[in-house]
Amino acid sequence: SNKPRDRLRVATQKSGRLTDAGRDLLTRSGLSFRESRDRLFCYGESLPIDLLLVRDDDIPGLIAEGTCDLGFVGRNVLEEQRLERTRRGEAAPFRELRALGFGRCRLSIAVPQDMAWAGPQSLAGLRIATSYPQLLGDWLDRHGIAAQVVMLSGSVEIAPRLGTAEAICDLVSSGATLAANQLREVATVLDSEAVLIGPAQPFADERGDHADLLLRRLDGTLQVRDSKLLMLHVDRTALDAVIRLLPGIDTTPIVTALDGRSDAVALQAVCQGAITWQHLEDMKRAGARSMLVLPVEQMLA
Ligand code: ATP
Ligand code: MG
Repeated sequence: SNKPRDRLRVATQKSGRLTDAGRDLLTRSGLSFRESRDRLFCYGESLPIDLLLVRDDDIPGLIAEGTCDLGFVGRNVLEEQRLERTRRGEAAPFRELRALGFGRCRLSIAVPQDMAWAGPQSLAGLRIATSYPQLLGDWLDRHGIAAQVVMLSGSVEIAPRLGTAEAICDLVSSGATLAANQLREVATVLDSEAVLIGPAQPFADERGDHADLLLRRLDGTLQVRDSKLLMLHVDRTALDAVIRLLPGIDTTPIVTALDGRSDAVALQAVCQGAITWQHLEDMKRAGARSMLVLPVEQMLA
């Protein structure tokens, strides 16, 4: 549909909640950029991968029309626009390729703190304000609730006080905004985080190779973010018990001899997820000692 290109163009949010974490992820994946004067375009210096800085709402459309090849966007925006296209009878021309682990939030229903709540049916016949009419409409349909969806593009949380709606459906992360507006979260419509999206159809030119490279880099970066290298000493008799306690190991641990000791060994393992004090204390009780937990800088499977 679109002209062949030999550089990959990634759409990212120009300024907002996804901007810094998105750029940080790309930097840690070895990408560097030179910014254009108008700050709309970033030229990829280390790889043939450029950025286009746009409003987040425009990202799925830019991929649909082929102006951009990949994009970083909240799942909430992606799914809203997917449903919009489905309703028009179109197949979605974009798809989620990876969850990126930042920009976490949820699209939730909230009601005034003093309103009685007995489940979704409590919304029957009410007006619900939201910027996500498709996702809310779909949720109401799935729960068999007839309610009126009031579309607002911003400041959704003040709608109940203004009298334009009795309930809201909005993005929540800490819940502080809801509390400040005397609202209570009662149901989750969608769990969201930033995702990498791409076209439903694979690339037919060099962009396919660039996209594969970027995905491999991102996977490595996302994986090390939660990885730790754990090193410890343990008596041979307790080795199996300690290995069983290692949190989230995905490769075989390395066991090496300790100089001049036949009864004890050193153990090294890459662990996924947080290693807590509780983990360390449990392993110590099982016979481990001299434990070290180190961050992992880079990883290539
Ligand atoms: P733009 O100017 O690009 O349209 P925006 O105001 O629509 O920006 P932001 O407020 O920067 O968007 O939010 C971008 C995304 O951040 C949201 O779509 C959502 O996925 C995520 N997000 C995470 N936590 C929250 C939150 N508490 N409120 C709103 N969005 C959140
Ligand atoms: Mg937006």
